[in-house]
Amino acid sequence: MPPSPERYFPTDYRQGRKAFITACEKAGIDSIARVHPTAKGPDGKPLFIDSAAMGPRGAKRALLLIAGTHGVEGYFGSGVETGLLREGLAAPEGARIVLVHALNPFGFAWDRRVNEDNVDLNRNFVDHAHPPDNPDYATLADAIAYRDASPAAVARADAVLLAYAKAHGAAKLREAISRGQYRFPKGLHYGGVAASWSHKMLRAILTEDLARVEKLVVIDFHTGLGETGAGEMIVEAAPASAIYRRAQAMWGGMVASSENGESVSAPLTGTLDQALAGWLPRVELTFAALEVGTRPFETVWDALRRDNWQNNFAPDQRLAGEIRQGCRDAFYPDTPEWKHAVFGHAQKAVAGALAAL
Ligand SMILES: [Zn+2]
Repeated sequence: MPPSPERYFPTDYRQGRKAFITACEKAGIDSIARVHPTAKGPDGKPLFIDSAAMGPRGAKRALLLIAGTHGVEGYFGSGVETGLLREGLAAPEGARIVLVHALNPFGFAWDRRVNEDNVDLNRNFVDHAHPPDNPDYATLADAIAYRDASPAAVARADAVLLAYAKAHGAAKLREAISRGQYRFPKGLHYGGVAASWSHKMLRAILTEDLARVEKLVVIDFHTGLGETGAGEMIVEAAPASAIYRRAQAMWGGMVASSENGESVSAPLTGTLDQALAGWLPRVELTFAALEVGTRPFETVWDALRRDNWQNNFAPDQRLAGEIRQGCRDAFYPDTPEWKHAVFGHAQKAVAGALAAL
């Protein structure tokens, strides 16, 4: 029986980083550390994006794996990258594999989904001179990101959202909340006002490590949506598109489009997928977010709102520890069964991508 993948999953950002670097060393590849210019972890120490690559630098075919775009979701991606390396991940002849560990190290270290500026990194890749409008979010802003966390105030906020869902449908509400917004810095799914540090570092990694690529597959590891332990390869392309067909050839029934309601995700603005498509217009790009389910939707939603309240509106730190733990639990079910299931999805996704390269 193969060893359990459980041991690859980290206890926190710092330990996950160490395990990733050690796994790179054991695999005989160098990792590169990019230090965050200002942010520090709860331990007061610097934070890093680490990356590593195998296969020729001038490769025309490549696989890019990204962990921790959404901070706290990085427990999953970190465990996967370390585990794949420890189990002998290898690039097909002439192809390259690039691994990015903790694209949003602040969120990972602090158990938050957002970065150091309350920005959802996967909404940050827009033209900030002309950000997309989200009028539906604006209508609901105070109900989504409540300022008062007392039970009565939260019940009032929930009633506003429920009324919206009754009038416009649950899917429309979900989209209003999660699509991305650029006007409320203390709100949820805020895309920021400028390219974040992580955004710039991702661009640098592409320039340095994938300059010659013509065919690129990307898997960005996420958690929080869907049934506990289930996995879905979310593509931001319509089912009739060439991208969707390529994704299906690699991942079969795991593929779901966010554009037609078949995915657990609503259509989004400012995503990594859209960024890469813009930066690499001549590359045959197949980008998927491997989204694995953690807890019931209500639990995840509650954790996100409480985290937002604590970090933007709370009068003191009394509930900070409990709220941080709640966010970690919501995005990282620390159980052997869950780790086994989600590591299996990741292995399958990576094997499918490598076979296509
Ligand atoms: Zn995510």
